[in-house]
Amino acid sequence: MAEITSPIRKAPQFPDDLTLAQFLFDYQHPIRLPREPDSPWIIDSVSGKTFLQEELRDRTWCLANALSFSYGLGPDHTVGIVSGNHVDFPIAIWAAHRLGASAFTLNPIFNVAELTPFLLDMKPALLFVNSVALEAVQAAATQTGLTRDRIILLDSSEKRDLCSLQELVETGLAKKETYQFEEFKLKPGEGKTKVALCFPSSGTTGVPKMAAIPHAAIIANILQNAAHDAGTDEMTVPIMERRFRPGDVSLAALPFFHIFGLLLNLHYHIFSGMVVLIMPKFDFKEYLSIIKHYQVNHLSLVPSILVLFSKHPAVKAEDLTSLRVVFAGGAPVNNHLVRAMAALIPQAVVEQSYGMTEVAGILAMPPLNRRIATGSGGRLLPGNTARVVKQDGTLAGPGETGELYIKGPSLATHYVNNEKISADTFVDGWVRSGDECYFDEDGEIYVVDRIKDFIKVRGFQVAPAELEAQLAANPDVADCCVVPVPHEFSGEIPKAYIVLSKAAAERVSRDPEEGEKIKSALIQDIAEKRAKYKALGELEFIDSIPRNAAGKLLRRVLRAKALNDHEAG
Ligand code: AMP
Repeated sequence: MAEITSPIRKAPQFPDDLTLAQFLFDYQHPIRLPREPDSPWIIDSVSGKTFLQEELRDRTWCLANALSFSYGLGPDHTVGIVSGNHVDFPIAIWAAHRLGASAFTLNPIFNVAELTPFLLDMKPALLFVNSVALEAVQAAATQTGLTRDRIILLDSSEKRDLCSLQELVETGLAKKETYQFEEFKLKPGEGKTKVALCFPSSGTTGVPKMAAIPHAAIIANILQNAAHDAGTDEMTVPIMERRFRPGDVSLAALPFFHIFGLLLNLHYHIFSGMVVLIMPKFDFKEYLSIIKHYQVNHLSLVPSILVLFSKHPAVKAEDLTSLRVVFAGGAPVNNHLVRAMAALIPQAVVEQSYGMTEVAGILAMPPLNRRIATGSGGRLLPGNTARVVKQDGTLAGPGETGELYIKGPSLATHYVNNEKISADTFVDGWVRSGDECYFDEDGEIYVVDRIKDFIKVRGFQVAPAELEAQLAANPDVADCCVVPVPHEFSGEIPKAYIVLSKAAAERVSRDPEEGEKIKSALIQDIAEKRAKYKALGELEFIDSIPRNAAGKLLRRVLRAKALNDHEAG
């Protein structure tokens, strides 16, 4: 097997001069199913407030008007959004797109050290920030030369010296009589290069960087998903046999600062005519009560939430009868958890999808007629082509594993300010996935291992290089390496192997308790300076870190050791 193509060969076509906002609000693609006029696009699960298409369009227009009038925001600019889920999260993005600006997202629990490198790389004109993120963002903004008037509160405006998004919406409306911004228009073909969104990803190696995704790639991924769900090249599968149907209620608890949450759970579901219930902060009991109260039909989740469904005492099957489709993704999905979930909701599809930031969302989805995930990541979405490259550089046949390369209409184009890693990852129209995979005879893809460095903790990427740099700065550490170890709830957690400095090793040989103190101090240091999900789960002293003759870290050796030790006991 040289190359594998999607069973539906053609990706749906669309004009390549549309921004994401224009595609969603102003353009009627033939594959898009009509929704009832009174069916909201979004519901805020906290207030219960509903938002119809026209209300969201107007709110976006008013914000764009104010951003143009007050800040001169335009096509050369980018805006950052550092927030949990909120109705105004996409409004900020769509307003930026109306003006030709791009947007990037960051986790609101990042601290100053985590935010600063991104702000330096991205040089945002404005930052939309929720209250959780405010303190760290203000400090990081000061360090990177962004003035206070460039920070806009996205959720509320208790701190009156900062401008809020709501105030800007009001300004934009008030100015309408005297000032109206000019809608940004892409030139033909420009949709394929003009960046719409950037998301952090560590890619195959190194510290996190921003993956840049053009408008056409995002639109393509939405349409590829829709075409897959419509089932054939002619798209003739009846609506009632599709998984994503107009009027379905979808719960959006996955964070919008990650591609899975923003592109699939929000944009694709809106495109499909579904009603998206926005949940600002994940709390499992709250999640269960929202499912019951709003009679939710669709859940998009990471495998850790399946663990909660299988164990949490508050779970009652009778409260989950409205569920019809549950999709897990973002990390390897354990078959036991899928079966447990399928037993709890026998009326529903419980499946997994396989995707990544660098393909602007999803790259494979399961066949339409299957109810329960089999361990496969599904079939390639329409228009995608894959290669599995073996270690010797030759192409794998069915059942043979190697690194997956993907070609298709939905690829990111590069990492911002990272030419070398971009050149290694985006090669001749292909993107290297960094995943070890194989295809079976039916064209179903199986992810068997991750070749790339990062660790997936509850669906979040943790870059070993980031933690290693911090550990190495400690004088007690001579060398170190961070690898994943399996974890029942989180999927994986980071484990650090540490070679002590000569002085620290001598202290430990004189007093073994000193070793425990050093361990706690290192674990504590990461806990204090990094987001909570990056915390070290284990730490072990080791005599030396395996490296090859050129001094390159042999991470896989320690990864295997950590796994063996974990399995042994
Ligand atoms: P991200 O860019 O954060 O979405 O991470 C993408 C990576 O998550 C992929 O390259 C895989 O390593 C992993 N991943 C996502 N979905 C799956 C899946 N269904 N099965 C196994 N690994 C997955």
